[in-house]
Amino acid sequence: PGDRSAADPTRAVTLGVMGGGQLGRMFVHAAQQLGFRTAVLEPDATSPAGTVAHVHVNAGYLDAAGLQRLADEADAITTEFENVPADALRTLAARRPVAPSGDAVAVCQDRAAEKAHFTDCGVPVAPYAVIDSEAALAAVGDDLLPGILKTARMGYDGKGQIRVADRAELAAGWAELGGTVCVLEKRLPLAFEVSVLIARGGDGRVVAFPLQQNLHRDGILAVTTVPAPAGTPALEAEAVGCAARIAADLGYVGVLCIEFFILEDGSLVANEMAPRPHNSGHHTIDSCDVSQFDLQVRAMAGLPLVKPRLHSPTVMLNLLGDLWFDAQGAERSPDWAAVLALPGAHLHLYGKESARPGRKMGHLTLTAATPAAARDVALQAAALLG
Ligand code: ADP
Ligand code: MG
Repeated sequence: PGDRSAADPTRAVTLGVMGGGQLGRMFVHAAQQLGFRTAVLEPDATSPAGTVAHVHVNAGYLDAAGLQRLADEADAITTEFENVPADALRTLAARRPVAPSGDAVAVCQDRAAEKAHFTDCGVPVAPYAVIDSEAALAAVGDDLLPGILKTARMGYDGKGQIRVADRAELAAGWAELGGTVCVLEKRLPLAFEVSVLIARGGDGRVVAFPLQQNLHRDGILAVTTVPAPAGTPALEAEAVGCAARIAADLGYVGVLCIEFFILEDGSLVANEMAPRPHNSGHHTIDSCDVSQFDLQVRAMAGLPLVKPRLHSPTVMLNLLGDLWFDAQGAERSPDWAAVLALPGAHLHLYGKESARPGRKMGHLTLTAATPAAARDVALQAAALLG
């Protein structure tokens, strides 16, 4: 349909995305607002993004025919999750502009490569060691304990992580993780956690969203508050500067999120990065004049990037599947009518067919005229959700 010049992504007609989750769904919504057709490649028959896109390519991420079909349909292609096989992105890149690149995504998929990249960019990381053999395990310095053992690949939402207090727990933990390549990180005294989202265009222009303060529960993001209550202009500038260096060194195009720890002594340490829009940026749909998904669309389509402006102080609450069960484990439905009666409540449900504890079912963004008012309405929402 229409003119589909791969050489000129500003003339794109259809935007494609690898993955059918909620990030893909919100990306599709943003693309559709600008009049783009959308195509989603996703192996699940029903998925949050697949059900709202114009075209659902129902295939595995490495399926050759499926990748051909996505490249046939889409003028430019992105990903909504970082564990997309990098080789799938490389295959697609032979036919269409792909942003971010398979090589950039590959760095984000491996905690060891990611930390090495941060260090190369002069960005501080937690003291760590790569554990890929019994010898490496034996060579671990006592200064890394107590620590957190994390699988180098495929971890998310606190999965694939074990807290270890001493060498015996470390050895047992590595065995429990199947002896797979891991990173052992020193456990740091965190004062708070923040993230920063930037978008980088093909011309190297970078724009940043305001610093976000994040609260995790059981390794899963629970609450994001913007402006960051514990943030300062200097901290924000440092975080954005780190993110811009990390992106530039990767030749990165698209939206990139970096998560940071702020230690008790005030210093900043990079934790990890996500090569895509991020859960901590979902509030931007309702709190900013241009959202993280809008900027992902613009970056991949070669359209202008503008600096986002936060127009409303905001608190975002993640809605996990636990809310769909009562204390006895019986299914229930949260009282959405009461939630929607709150001023400044923006409810987003991802259209997932079934709820499970820990599963991200939606999020609730509360916007208000002042940070104190946003916090107040978020506390009311949290009380209603139980
Ligand atoms: P995931 O990929 O699952 O998000 P993270 O590496 O971001 O994994 O870890 C999840 C959470 O665990 C972090 O947001 C932080 O709260 C805590 N955490 C991780 N690493 C450390 C560390 N080295 N010291 C202290 N807390 C940590
Ligand atoms: Mg994390």
